[in-house]
Amino acid sequence: MAPHDAFRPALDRAHGHALDWLDSVPTRRVAPSATAEDLEARFAGPLPDGPTDAADVVDELAAMCEPGLMGIASGRFFGWVMGGTLPAALAADWLVSTWDQNSAMRFATPATAAVEGIAGRWMLELLGLPSTAAVGFTTGGTMANFVGLAAGRKAVLDAVGWDLHENGLTGAPRITVLVGAESHVSVDLALRYLGLGAPRTVASDDQGRIVPEALGEALANVDGPVIVGLQAGNLHSGAFDPMRECVRLAHEHGAWVHVDGAFGLWAASSPLYREALDGLDGADSWATDAHKTLNVPYDCGVAIVARTELLRSAFGAQTNYIIQGDASPADPFEKVPEMSRRARELPVWAALRSLGRSGAVALVEGLAANARALADGLSRLPGVEVTNQVVFTQVCLSFGSDERTRRVTQRVMQDGAVWMSGSRWRDRDVLRISVSNWSTDVDDVAASIAAVRRAIAAVDAEG
Ligand SMILES: *Cc1c(COP(=O)(O)O)cnc(C)c1O
Repeated sequence: MAPHDAFRPALDRAHGHALDWLDSVPTRRVAPSATAEDLEARFAGPLPDGPTDAADVVDELAAMCEPGLMGIASGRFFGWVMGGTLPAALAADWLVSTWDQNSAMRFATPATAAVEGIAGRWMLELLGLPSTAAVGFTTGGTMANFVGLAAGRKAVLDAVGWDLHENGLTGAPRITVLVGAESHVSVDLALRYLGLGAPRTVASDDQGRIVPEALGEALANVDGPVIVGLQAGNLHSGAFDPMRECVRLAHEHGAWVHVDGAFGLWAASSPLYREALDGLDGADSWATDAHKTLNVPYDCGVAIVARTELLRSAFGAQTNYIIQGDASPADPFEKVPEMSRRARELPVWAALRSLGRSGAVALVEGLAANARALADGLSRLPGVEVTNQVVFTQVCLSFGSDERTRRVTQRVMQDGAVWMSGSRWRDRDVLRISVSNWSTDVDDVAASIAAVRRAIAAVDAEG
């Protein structure tokens, strides 16, 4: 018996089901055909008394889940902001589970720690961020925001002489957090986890970009420690906050600057966005998702902090030792909230290795080109208005009244050939498209325009 014989039948079945799924993605409905309630009702039952063969378990799981799977991997999935999966990243993710490394300490899991270092450096190069910054791998953008803001919390309290680790926040000087009016709710959540309460919002313009003059005024009116949260990639418009001016204003006031770039930070890889993101590298911390624009499997966020020692002092377990000047490279667990975790940096390395710089840039520019193509095609349909300036991957559509927009959105979802989300932006209901999948092609764009046309016709036929 080979050592892998205990695993082989189950792995072979999983491999088969994975290939079947990938084969089905281009033609299957994008929308699931069963609800969570349907599936719960069908598969409810007590925990079985005895064991089941591993291969049979895999078959049962695949059969059970099949009708309830959302085609997030499809080139016609445009919901929320969710990427697909590049082949190299998916295969690397299989190895992550197989190798089962607890990617925490350099000496214990040297392979994953080394890959983490390389993947992080490649990202800094690709995005034009400071080469000496620390890079930590989190579950997602929310936790990447948490990490950047935690480093900021530590830094601004250090600056006023408050020992956060010793004293906690009770009795600490109040930290004011300023964000644009269209900052993502994930930033609010991260601030809540950090005990910093709700941020103060600053006016934003018609594309959701923070207004620098308003930020300047807000900064002039606060005393004490300040964190400024900027955004690279607005959920509705795709727009980027004016970085250089905002970073300058914030730093004049001694504020920490964190950038939420969950999907938009990747734009910094392309010369097309050099102007829109000018000054991005001057911030103190950045958050992004690899499971969005880079198209690695869920879950993977990336937190970047310009000053490594600050990140280590926020998350490292041996804080005092580190503060005294530890020049050794940070362990993976010293840069994120988790001590134990999967080696989610491996799919990031694999994605970047398979794409190379030119491929990564082409991926980002391709998503934006498809967003423009969708906006162009859809704006030619009768009664359709594109409500944002399409500058990146996001497109918002109105179909006239809020009522009509909601009915068309409902129809698109029922039809199921594509998936787009309903949302509300700038006091209007919208159908929102996010182009985040590497595999979207001209046929997907044409099929998606056709699906929206069908939905409009169905709504008009109802009268
Ligand atoms: C998706 C998103 C987040 C949250 O990221 P998660 O990976 O879902 O935790 C934060 N900010 C923006 C702009 C996003 O699009």
